Amino acid sequence: MSPGGRGARGAWTPADSERLYGVAEWGEGYFEVNARGNLAVNPGRGPDGPRIDMADVIREIKGRGLRFPVVVRFHDILWSRVETLNRTFREAIRAEGYRGGYRGVYPIKVNQMREVVEEIVEAGAPWDFGLEAGSRTELEAVLALNTNEGSLTILNGHKDDECLRLALLGRRLGWNVVVVIEKLSELGRLVRIGREMGVEPLVGIRAALAAESSGRWRDSSGGRAKFGLTVPEILSAVGLLGREGLLPAFRLLHFHIGSQVSDIKCFRDAVVEATRIYAKLHKSGARLEYIDVGGGLGIDYDGSRSAGHSSRNYTLAEYVSNVVWGIKDICDQEGVPHPHIVSESGRAVTAQHSCVVSNVVDVIESRHEDADIAEEEGEHNLVRVARENLESLGTDNVQEVYNDNLAVRRDAVSAFNLGILSLGEYSKIESIVWKVNKGVLDLIGETGAAPDYLQDLEERMASKYLYNLSVFQSAADHWAVGQVLPVVPITRLDEKPTKRCTLVDITCDSDGRLKRFIDSGEVRGTLPLHEIRPGEEYYVGLFLTGAYQDVMGDMHNLFGRLGEIHVFSYDDDTGFYFEEVVKGASSGQVLSDMQYSPGQMAHTIKKRVDRMIKRGDIGPKEGVGLAALYERGLQGYTYLHRGDGPAGDAPAGGP
Ligand code: PLP
Repeated sequence: MSPGGRGARGAWTPADSERLYGVAEWGEGYFEVNARGNLAVNPGRGPDGPRIDMADVIREIKGRGLRFPVVVRFHDILWSRVETLNRTFREAIRAEGYRGGYRGVYPIKVNQMREVVEEIVEAGAPWDFGLEAGSRTELEAVLALNTNEGSLTILNGHKDDECLRLALLGRRLGWNVVVVIEKLSELGRLVRIGREMGVEPLVGIRAALAAESSGRWRDSSGGRAKFGLTVPEILSAVGLLGREGLLPAFRLLHFHIGSQVSDIKCFRDAVVEATRIYAKLHKSGARLEYIDVGGGLGIDYDGSRSAGHSSRNYTLAEYVSNVVWGIKDICDQEGVPHPHIVSESGRAVTAQHSCVVSNVVDVIESRHEDADIAEEEGEHNLVRVARENLESLGTDNVQEVYNDNLAVRRDAVSAFNLGILSLGEYSKIESIVWKVNKGVLDLIGETGAAPDYLQDLEERMASKYLYNLSVFQSAADHWAVGQVLPVVPITRLDEKPTKRCTLVDITCDSDGRLKRFIDSGEVRGTLPLHEIRPGEEYYVGLFLTGAYQDVMGDMHNLFGRLGEIHVFSYDDDTGFYFEEVVKGASSGQVLSDMQYSPGQMAHTIKKRVDRMIKRGDIGPKEGVGLAALYERGLQGYTYLHRGDGPAGDAPAGGP
């Protein structure tokens, strides 16, 4: 396959790259390829607003002596997302003549980084945008950050008594903390602890709906849902609240059908079912004020605008109008008041604001272009068959020659294992087989679309670019559930990418690789990238990592948390400034997290060195140098370093 654009004519332009990497589709106006051939951020999504050239951001990162990989957060995008979500709800409410309001919350599980949550709270203040917690520790964070008396704090998830006490503490301090009952047993405990503390709770109930989700998390919805009360359980809960004189405390009905809901139809069904429950409860005396539609608002990761797992078949405006109109319609049918609408969108608020930028540190490829495959006297017949197959390859018999090549390879492996082929003959066949495969891909590249039967070959023949990050740390959902995340070179986008590549990470796990890429509107196993130029860094960005990926990563192979750059746009010649630089974890910090004692470890090395110096095994200067080398390593960034000086030179553990 000819990388970089089947059908591209004339000189390669930035617009060709934008099309190839699907930037306009997944970027939703926040990302574009500029005339310099660099990836750029358009935080306001307007035609004339400020632009941040990511090549300039990289230059600034390097200028400060910081190391890659780094998480780059564009806080303007975060602000834009919060604003867009709130404005869209407000506009739909106005347009539909809806008589309730919108009181959204951000579920911090999606990205708990303090700076991220703080920005969201600040950006959401004009709309009383609140926070959601899914555990006691998250609630501790939320109580300290969501101090706006006008906004909601929603507590979901499993709650022990301590957690319920904490929620009531928040209530006592004057905040609107709603405890969402996820299982019936929580309610009795909440009532008891409320009495003990002399605090009346605000109660929400999560309904376990029959409506199912779509997409990757479909299995956690409907009858298989882990959380929520069935209708009989809801009625028991209402009975209990009534007997305790606490029915007025029941304020919110909640549902959440799953994350990354790919099909709008699922929201419609869920909204109808939940609103019917709300309406019937209201008529029976429970004066609920809120319907909480949970999260699930999807992101178009692969840009396909479809109901596929990595996409969604609706826009934000469509989602919002379905929710608002759906609730209004049922309420009007039932003759009950329009409740305030709460949503818990996390992914749709944070995904776009952050990306990981790193460099390609090596290229792994086995090429046999120059191998000598000339005929030799007495060579095994299989070598001749392989060579004849190669010689017969032409545009009209590609599939036939490809199939014969597979057979030759299979026979050669068997013959070698049986001791029939010499190492030289086997090597020659391997080289010929490679040349046939290369020829097949080149021929197909000339004619256009790659047929399905060659996808696997394309992946096997691709160059492996060693990408300086850990998939387990930076792209957990890609590894775990096959989530597509856009991958795009940051520079040289005015140049045709000429190599078909896969990206392997720097862990020693064979699963540590990026396996699915956006390529000209399709999702494929390989990605066109540029030839690496000697002495020049090649930077590649992994995008839409702001939701879940930023915080779910693990320390496989002890690759630790990444350094971070927080960028704001600014009206000067660069167009941005670094609001904050957060250091990545050093090797010593990562080891400490695993219960090692870096000080003790360095001491052990030093003692060994001292003993060897005393014994005369090494000279004192060399010994001191070795001990310092070990210590520097402990202070260094955990990722690979290319260029001047060892990794341990990174200032206090890298960026
Ligand atoms: N609310 C609840 C109860 C959740 O469990 C989740 C996550 O799955 C969310 C909100 C956030 O969902 P999303 O990130 O899809 O908006």
